[in-house]
Amino acid sequence: MRKHRARRVSLVGAGPGDPELLTIKAQRLLCEADVVLHDDLVPGSILAFARPHARVENVGKRCGAKAITQAEINERMIEAARQGLGVVRLHGGDPAIFGRLAEEIDALEKAGVPFEIVPGITAGSAAAAALGVSLTDRRKSSRVIIVSGHRATQAAPYDQTDWKEVAREDATLVVYMPGNNFTPLGRELVAAGLSPEIPAVVVSHAATPRQRHCRATLGTLDDLPHVDSPAVLLIGRSLDRARWKPGDSVSLAWEEAEFILSTP
Ligand code: SAH
Repeated sequence: MRKHRARRVSLVGAGPGDPELLTIKAQRLLCEADVVLHDDLVPGSILAFARPHARVENVGKRCGAKAITQAEINERMIEAARQGLGVVRLHGGDPAIFGRLAEEIDALEKAGVPFEIVPGITAGSAAAAALGVSLTDRRKSSRVIIVSGHRATQAAPYDQTDWKEVAREDATLVVYMPGNNFTPLGRELVAAGLSPEIPAVVVSHAATPRQRHCRATLGTLDDLPHVDSPAVLLIGRSLDRARWKPGDSVSLAWEEAEFILSTP
């Protein structure tokens, strides 16, 4: 008799929040899944694609008093796949950007469980679209640098991140998990030689009805108001033409969403 082989696990990106930014493939897999293990950031409007009898579990970090470890998430995926169930591991944005995808791949490979990766639209792309800018602009920015600023807390400030390494006038810097204290980041980037005039925009809840953004410059970063999570911070000359009034280079008030729920 042939040995029963585990079902293939789908590691899927849900995009930044707008259900219309889900790929058709992601939607199909969600519609077919028996088990959906999702991040906190995936909204109900996307989870609603799952079948009524599907097991939909929040395995995000903020999913309750008892945090689920990465090992437990891996275990749940592997166990369900071995039972022959269709598993979708649904990540916010793109699974390959700050999504612990590599750890999940390692665990699946080790367990001999086949998998596929379905990319999604990452928050940085959604934020750029919201601002009406290109992350690369061959006249100003020839590269995009994606970094995490999650060490930006009182307990573990930026000292572990080498901001000098990413301080480039020809780059757009996309900072995920930027925290709320931008002072060290702004100070270090300016100390590393970047102009304090370079635009910086923080975009919160990109591609959702709660989308808002607030702009400053590298030199005025510490004046930015408290950022509503999730948010990304974009820094660079390519933001020169972000949607705001020409000549109005600094605004410290949150600007209302230009997000329009698509209507036919
Ligand atoms: N895999 C995700 C990132 C996960 S890390 C992606 O590709 O987008 C979580 C961080 O992503 C948040 O702290 C925030 O910095 C960013 N993020 C996710 N969704 C966002 C959204 N809709 N708007 C702004 N930032 C978002």
